[in-house]
Amino acid sequence: MITTRETERKARQDRRFISKETQTSAKYLRRIEELSGAPEGMEPFLETLGRIYVDMKGVDTGRKTIGTYCVMAPQELIYAAGAVPVKLCSGNYTAFFVGDDIAPRDACPLVKAVAGFKQTGLMPVYEDCSLMIVPVTCDCKKKIAGMLSEQCNVMTMHIPTSKGDDEIDEFVSQLYDMAARLEDVTGTRITYDSLAEAFRITGRAQYELSEFIRLKKEKPYLIRGTHAMTIMNSAAYMPAEDWAAALHKVNASLKSRAKSGQLVTNKKLPRILLTGSPIVFPNMKIPLLIEEMGGIVAGDETCMGERGLYDPPVITDDSFDGMIMALANRSLRPCPCPTFADNTQRIYRLKQLIKDNQIQGVIYHVLRGCLVYDFEYKRIEEELGQLGIPVIRLESDYNEEDVEQLRIRIEAFIELIKLRQEPGKRSTARREI
Ligand code: SF4
Ligand code: SF4
Repeated sequence: MITTRETERKARQDRRFISKETQTSAKYLRRIEELSGAPEGMEPFLETLGRIYVDMKGVDTGRKTIGTYCVMAPQELIYAAGAVPVKLCSGNYTAFFVGDDIAPRDACPLVKAVAGFKQTGLMPVYEDCSLMIVPVTCDCKKKIAGMLSEQCNVMTMHIPTSKGDDEIDEFVSQLYDMAARLEDVTGTRITYDSLAEAFRITGRAQYELSEFIRLKKEKPYLIRGTHAMTIMNSAAYMPAEDWAAALHKVNASLKSRAKSGQLVTNKKLPRILLTGSPIVFPNMKIPLLIEEMGGIVAGDETCMGERGLYDPPVITDDSFDGMIMALANRSLRPCPCPTFADNTQRIYRLKQLIKDNQIQGVIYHVLRGCLVYDFEYKRIEEELGQLGIPVIRLESDYNEEDVEQLRIRIEAFIELIKLRQEPGKRSTARREI
């Protein structure tokens, strides 16, 4: 029997958790807002993150929400079942501290934060989910799937380690299983028409993203990477149609900036590509530090970034099965996640981003305990060394204790790039924001 004293103690703990969680999230939101050069049209993205993490509200669309823990669970099936997907990978420091007591010491902070949120039961965006889909891409994901299934409705998806035809066929059958689970939960049948409509909805978001990427590529210094990553992070909690409409407005503002030569800086700030373990709001300390220290995040290859929507599905057979096959191919074949044994795709994607965005240095982020990304570092260092691109590995955790150390290393890296920059070339920018 629960005593009054225990109830009061739990209420005090909950109040402390809410206060710390909202303070940290509000602080990071404020730092993003205070960063100069935000384009017009950022409000819906900032408001979304504020609503979820500062006001602690759900996505509130009137539809069922389905949580996912990886970009490899296709959103299209969720929309086709009449529900809305939310991405639940967490970057929350307060939830991490709770999860630190539940998960083993060497588990990554992302899953500790997920465990912390579930333990407290205080985050509507987690509590509202009718189903959580956990693609098993690493040991941490496997174990968190087990933990979550003790408290809520969970479906695990097996992610193959390679991308051959047999593996794709096997993944197709998992997508049919996923469709059946979604139909059970939502009570809505996934039909040819509803799936085609879902492709149209996500296709609009992919189109706007491709415009956004094109604009950034054609005109360097049009937007700061921290703002771009904020836009991408908010996609986790916005229905794709709303997100696409909001991004359309940002794109319009970037087009007019490009036309008038209005850039975020008229200095040649060192252009940095950020890659590695996921960077999830509010854990934005690394992009913020880079840009507060005088660099610019000109490219982002992380899975809360452009990766989730970058590759559209290609339909070669215009049937229901053909659409499922297109989703299976899109989810696995181009995915640069290091969970696959062969990472040629990842190297190819990084080199493409370096070329497209005139990258001068790469920051490789490793969340403490994230072995899949850490394993990749050596090969990437070698490959980029051959291109003459400097790269550093930054390990971080979900707290602010490592901020000073990160600041020193980022500052030194930015100075190194500045020293390597060609002297004498002047910026063509006409006006600084
Ligand atoms: S890092 Fe890889 S496994 Fe993790 S969520 Fe992203 S794509 Fe999925
Ligand atoms: S891929 Fe890395 S960050 Fe993601 S759950 Fe696994 S260990 Fe954690």
